[in-house]
Amino acid sequence: MSWEKEGKEGSLLKWYDIMEAEKYEYTVGPAGERFFQGLKENKIVGSKCKKCGKVYLPPRIYCEDCFTKIEEYVELKLDDAYLDSFTTIYQNDDGQKLTEPVHIGLLRFKGVNGGLFCYLEGTPKKGGRIRVSNFNYPLRISIE
Ligand SMILES: [Zn+2]
Repeated sequence: MSWEKEGKEGSLLKWYDIMEAEKYEYTVGPAGERFFQGLKENKIVGSKCKKCGKVYLPPRIYCEDCFTKIEEYVELKLDDAYLDSFTTIYQNDDGQKLTEPVHIGLLRFKGVNGGLFCYLEGTPKKGGRIRVSNFNYPLRISIE
């Protein structure tokens, strides 16, 4: 790594920096760990604020509404899940047409703040019962 400094006393300094990195790794944090552990057990886990009762998905460690530290994790019920919105992708990142379109949806739960982006199997539609066919992230869901 190398850098150059520009500027003089009392003025803002700027660094021109080159960072040589071959691989980035970061932890998912305590709430993320609970979330991903839940997926391994075929569960969707959110976190619940003990002060105001708000439930978050993906789980968070602080309530963004009342700033209370969150230490309770709850399993969300698929009976409360619904497809909020979806989109269909016809081209890859290079602009080439896909052999099959890909459907991406926003999965939400009644009474829960937030949601998860998922791959949709079959014909996407709003309404209907959500079934998770694959709990590996990102989830694959279908609507019955
Ligand atoms: Zn709260």
